[in-house]
Parts: sequence; structure tokens; C-alpha cells
Amino acid sequence: MDPSRICTACTLDCPDTCSLLAVREGHRLTVRGNPAHPYTQGFVCGKIHSWLRRLWAPNRIREPLLRQGDRWQPISWTAALDLCAEHLQWTLQREAIMVHLQGEAGRGVLHAACKRFFQSLDAISPAGSLCDSAGIAACETDFGSLEHNDIRELETARTIINWGKDLSRSSVHTAALVRRAKRNGAQVTTISPGGDGNRAFSDRYIRIAPDSDRFVAAAVLKRVLELDPSCRRRLEAASQGSAYLAWLEAMSWEALLGQTGCGPEELEHLARLYADGPVVSLLGWGMQRYRHGGENVRAINALAYASGQIGIPGGGSYFNIGSMRHLPLDWLYPEAPAPRQPFRWSEVGRALSRMRPEYVWIAGSNVVNQAPESKRTAEALRRSRFTVVVDGFMTDTAQCADLVLPAALMLEQSEIVGSCLHDGVQLSRQVLPPPGQARSDYSIIRALSERLRPDAPLPEEDACLTTTLQHSPSLPEQAWNVMQRQGFVIGDHPRLAFAGGKTAHFDGRFHCLPSCSPPIPCDPAYPLRFITAVRRDSVHSQIGQEEQGTPEVWLGPDSPVWKEIAPGQQARLVSPLGVLRVRCVPSRDLHPDAVLYRRGDWMSLGGGANQLIESQTTDLGGGTAYYEQRVRLEPLHDN
Ligand code: SF4
Repeated sequence: MDPSRICTACTLDCPDTCSLLAVREGHRLTVRGNPAHPYTQGFVCGKIHSWLRRLWAPNRIREPLLRQGDRWQPISWTAALDLCAEHLQWTLQREAIMVHLQGEAGRGVLHAACKRFFQSLDAISPAGSLCDSAGIAACETDFGSLEHNDIRELETARTIINWGKDLSRSSVHTAALVRRAKRNGAQVTTISPGGDGNRAFSDRYIRIAPDSDRFVAAAVLKRVLELDPSCRRRLEAASQGSAYLAWLEAMSWEALLGQTGCGPEELEHLARLYADGPVVSLLGWGMQRYRHGGENVRAINALAYASGQIGIPGGGSYFNIGSMRHLPLDWLYPEAPAPRQPFRWSEVGRALSRMRPEYVWIAGSNVVNQAPESKRTAEALRRSRFTVVVDGFMTDTAQCADLVLPAALMLEQSEIVGSCLHDGVQLSRQVLPPPGQARSDYSIIRALSERLRPDAPLPEEDACLTTTLQHSPSLPEQAWNVMQRQGFVIGDHPRLAFAGGKTAHFDGRFHCLPSCSPPIPCDPAYPLRFITAVRRDSVHSQIGQEEQGTPEVWLGPDSPVWKEIAPGQQARLVSPLGVLRVRCVPSRDLHPDAVLYRRGDWMSLGGGANQLIESQTTDLGGGTAYYEQRVRLEPLHDN
């Protein structure tokens, strides 16, 4: 390979986890997808190009910064690490509260090893997630493990039901497989509250009410039971299947239909597709961000299972897979106590306020921006005795720190990452030196470990990576050498999940939800669902300052808001927690109960949707029920 061309990988919090070819010519770096990688297939999305701009952003933090009243004082790494170790020793000696918050911006083996180090010190960390844990718990409850058919199976599907996955903004490789399936003759139907870019991928688009996925799935299953006699048999064989059957029989078709926001003909269309099969159910991640998010996923799994779509080619229910399933880390600090997780990510601000920790270490997370109740989280961090934030930018979270450590970012450090979409394991090689004195998370924690645990410091970086590969039962013996050569290896895993409908539960049965809960009534003072969805060109809050301004919200053509506010006008977006000034933009098809916001912009730059969102937790998995938030829009009189 040309020496200026380096095989590396994308570690952004994206399911595709692409293998990349990076070419460096002087100060210019270009990146493209690795054509040899069976899932990346030579192309990448636009997020990586925005990322490259971030690497050279003039506002990167280049040296450790210590808070001195209202200003930041640059200090040396030695002084910074000594200070971190000194405060940490003080906390450990007093058995005071130490919290470690590591987010999904730090993915892979070395980042997981950093978590393991803090676990070995008995630090507190949150349970659940800010992302997908309700859906994960739902799939594990139903199937006994987190699996789906190999994603390449999509290509040969005959019918794909896309339950709200925005293929124009998330997972370009899933989108490409759906496109290819369509070219091969597959019919694609999207079910969504609208406001996404799925029409271009769909033969049919069914708009539903927000948080009604479980009722759509239940209504469709009720009809499939009439169309296909084997459906009843399967449901009766499932654990709790008879209870769900009884609930379905007790519910009238009209009552179920009334919850969905769609028409009887649309449900009939879906029922016939599931009854005829095979059908792929492609699950988006928005449906599990409601209080009943776990149930939304479980009801779709029940429909897929009972209609005979599980464990067959051309079928399957696709939520995600575990990105660390080929990368075991239990060899590291085997004596570490079980994780101490007395609170969940969904309530991090409230928990920090209540617990008043002495020491907080934050890496790979702009938690103030990303978790609900931003202002409460910020205040709690400022009140902690010592808060360290490792980041490349002065984010909403870094501004609350006592000490900010400059982080090396993706392509400036090495890592090994798995994917939550496919079985590839990728080597993300360092391509560029980090700017100024920035260092990788791992090298920072390793230096800290040498000060705190001279008996058992973290191993050298390469040793940590190679030992993890050696402990993996599903990777080839020479995985490290293969990765050095081609940038990735493919983990061994069956192509079909739950073949023949046999699940991973001890009894091999599908474990069915017993019923669906009614929607949570809304306060009439806040009639709109606040949907904070992903962006096309960036992940989380990794957005350039120059790309931010007055936040925009989208409203559907039949939204009642248009009676008071004209398209393009600014308005007050109000929740019980506060107010944000926004500009109202028409959406072609968003449901009238919803207002859509593209999340991630910074509170310090006039954005920050999470300052309006109250802490609420999902029914399963300790997920964050962001979409349960209700808001209203009020006209502004100074437009
Ligand atoms: S963001 Fe996702 S699709 Fe884009 S390059 Fe990274 S892994 Fe690939």
C-alpha cells in the first residue's frame, strides 16, 4: 500500500463503523471508504467530512487549562496530572463520592479499558444510556440476546417495513442495502411520525402518531391472526403469548386503530404484508425514546415473531447488535468490583445535584448538552469539589470544569472498534499528530493509573489492544496481524439470528410482552411532542460553531401552530423547564402533534434542546425518555 495511504476506521457514534482509507498530502487529509471492507464497500457518509473540518478548527483546546475564577490558566501536563491524582487520592482516602461519566464519543477497546480502570477504583457510573438501552433491553427480554440477521441479508429481502429509521440521516450502509433491495424488486413501506427523509426510500409511507408504534404493531397483529392461522399457534407457544393474545382479543380493532393516527386501509396493507411474508422489520431508534419505548420495540418484535419472520432469510427484526461482542475486556482488572451504578443517565443532573460528588471525571461526553435538564447538570458539576473534563473543545460541559484536559480526537489516536450493525472489527489507526499538547484518553488515564495504582497500571496501548483480541473466541488467532495488514477482521457469527425461530432464552421460546400500555396523557398547556432527532452532517454535539445559530423547529402542514405563527417566523419554544428562541420551518409531513428539533447545538451558542427536557426514564433498560417531553410554541412579538 502507498505509504501516504493509511488504513484506519471511523469511531464516531454511528452503527456503520466504517473502515477508511486516509491519504495525507502535506496539510491536506482526504478520507474515503475502504473498498475491501465487506460492509463499508468503499463509501462513507458526509459526517466524516464535517469531522475533518473539526480537526483543524481554530478553537481546539491545545493545552491543559485550570480554572482560576473566571479565566482559564494554561498549565503543564505534569501539573495537571499531579492535580488529578492528588484530588483523586483525597477522594479515595475519605471514601467520598467519585463519579465517572464516559459517553459514546469514546468508543472501542481503549475507551472501555478507561471505564474499567475507574470501575477498579469503585467509582460510580450511570446505568442505562442516553441512547438505545430501552430497545436493547426490549430485544434481550424477547429473544434472550441482542442479535439480528447479518445486515447484508437486507439486500435480498422481498418486503421491508421501515419502522421509522431515517435512512437519509443515519447509517448510509443500511440505506444503500435498502436501495439495492428496491432495485432487486423489494417493496419498502415506511411507518413514521414524519419529518424524516424516508420518502425517497419508500414505495409507501404511512404517517402515524408519535409513540403509537406499539398500537400499530398490535393492530396489525390482530388482523394477521385472522389472515394466517399459524400466527395464533406461534403466539400461544411463546412465553406470555397467551396473555398477549387475550389482551389483543379484548381490545377492539377500532380502539387500537384510534391510537395510531393512520387509516384502516393502511393497517390492512401492513397486515397483508406480514401475513404473506417474508418481511424484514427495520427498527429506528426514535420509538424507544418514549416512556413506553421498550414496549414499542417489544410489540414490533411480537408481530415479527408471531407472523413467522424470525430466524428466516428475508425476515428478521433489526434493532442492533452489541458493538463489543467480539471484544471481551474482563481480562483487565479481573478483581474490579461490580459496576456501582446507583443512578441512570436519564437522571444524571438530578443525581449529581443530590449526591454532591467530590470528584467527577468526564470523557467522551458533552453530558450537559446531551442529557436532560442541562442547566441542573451544569450547576451540579460546578458545585463538585473537582471536575475534570477531557475534550477537544470548550463545550457546555467543559465550561463547568475545574480542569480541562485537551483530547486527541478520532484519527489523532489509535483504537479498535466493533460495530452495532455488523461483525467487522476495525483498527482505527492514528493518521495525524494531535494539535498542541492534546493526548488520547487512554494515555491520560494510563498516566493517572501509574500515579494511583503503581501495582497495576493500565497496560501499554498495543498490549491492551492485542490482549483483548487474543481473548476473543470469535476472532481469528492472527487477528492483530490481519488488522495491521487490511485494517479490519470479521468476527465469526451466524448469518441468521434465532434460526428456525429458536431464541437464546433457556427455553428457546420467544418471550412476549403481555399487553400494551396506554399513552401518557399530556398537560393541555404543553400540547406538542418534542422530538429531538439526529442531524445529517454531525453526531451528537460535534457541530462546528460556525454551523450554529438560532435553532430551527419543524412543524407539519396540519400543525395548529400555523394559526398563530407564520412559516419562517421566530417563536418561543416553552417547556416547564424554560424557553428557547427558535425559528419555525414547515415540514412536508410531520404529524400535527409533534414539533421537530435537530439536536446537538450548544446551549452557550443559543441552542441546547435538553435544557427544556425533563428527566424521564423508559420502561426498560434505563433509557432516556426524551420524546415524552411536551412543549408549546408561542408567537414572538419582535419578529
Ligand atoms: S459516521 Fe458512520 S457512515 Fe459516516 S464515516 Fe463514520 S461510521 Fe461511516
